[in-house]
Amino acid sequence: MKTRRELLQYAGAALAALPFAKTFAQSRPRRTSPGAIVVSTWNFGMQANDAAWKILGSGGHALDAVIAGVGVPEADPKNTSVGYGGLPDRDGHVTLDACVMDENGKAGSVACVENIVHVAALARKVMEKTPHVMLVGEGAQRFALANGFPKTNLLTPESEKAWREWLKTARYKPVANIENHDTIGMLALDAAGNLSGACTTSGMAYKMHGRVGDSPLIGAGLYVDNEVGAATSTGLGEEVIKICGSHVVVEQMRLGKSPEEACRIAVERIIKKNPVKRDDLQVGFLALNKHGEHGAYCILKGFQYAVRSGAQNILIDGKSHFA
Ligand code: ASP
Repeated sequence: MKTRRELLQYAGAALAALPFAKTFAQSRPRRTSPGAIVVSTWNFGMQANDAAWKILGSGGHALDAVIAGVGVPEADPKNTSVGYGGLPDRDGHVTLDACVMDENGKAGSVACVENIVHVAALARKVMEKTPHVMLVGEGAQRFALANGFPKTNLLTPESEKAWREWLKTARYKPVANIENHDTIGMLALDAAGNLSGACTTSGMAYKMHGRVGDSPLIGAGLYVDNEVGAATSTGLGEEVIKICGSHVVVEQMRLGKSPEEACRIAVERIIKKNPVKRDDLQVGFLALNKHGEHGAYCILKGFQYAVRSGAQNILIDGKSHFA
């Protein structure tokens, strides 16, 4: 029979041998400093990256950069899945969700907010000016107005027209890779080597009033750990929430997985529960690690992400589980 001391020594040795006992830096060592980089979801990420780069390229803070970056699609009336001009819920209300997270692990979030365009900036205010992480609905709107955010009708004539057309059948069916659900998730590493992220969306078009997806949920739509990396998601939020998607991706990078491998593992967890290919089930994960390496993985072909570093801004096709 082993003594208590022997048992404790044995347990200590076993723990030390486990892969998670390694730090991220031990499992993915790097010699040179990575330099600033920003990545974001979908092709509208290109323009958003350019706005973020104005800050990152001059040595600015990653959090300032991502909020400026996602502010572009938030204000774009032609983008029907984020911010102003977003498609409404089934009752005709445009309700927005967003969150941010910085290098200190601080987080802010808002959900189901009406009449405010820049909800990622609002999420940052929640982080900086309240003792809370998340404000929702009417309370979030009241906080926004008290902090000088203008009140704006988010429903554009085009989105209203699309909604009235939808009302004729009122059939809810998400369609992969098109505008009835897409989100901008943006991750940045600044010149000082610090990571931040933001995620902002109008969520699923024609959702039930009050529905909140993954995008404003820390650990689902966004997660940042400054020792390891950051991840964000887009697609059918319900499936991302059920696996705590972005947190899974960051934890896999901590174990030494590349950003793409980490995203693939998260996608496979969703596939395990939904093994049959469906045209209404798209989820894409995007990740950036502490070394500036990036990668993505999605369920269905068609998810793209934009990467800007220096003068180069490029669009990359994410690898997919189903061809
Ligand atoms: N993930 C978002 C949501 O479920 C929408 C999207 O990215 O397509 O609300």
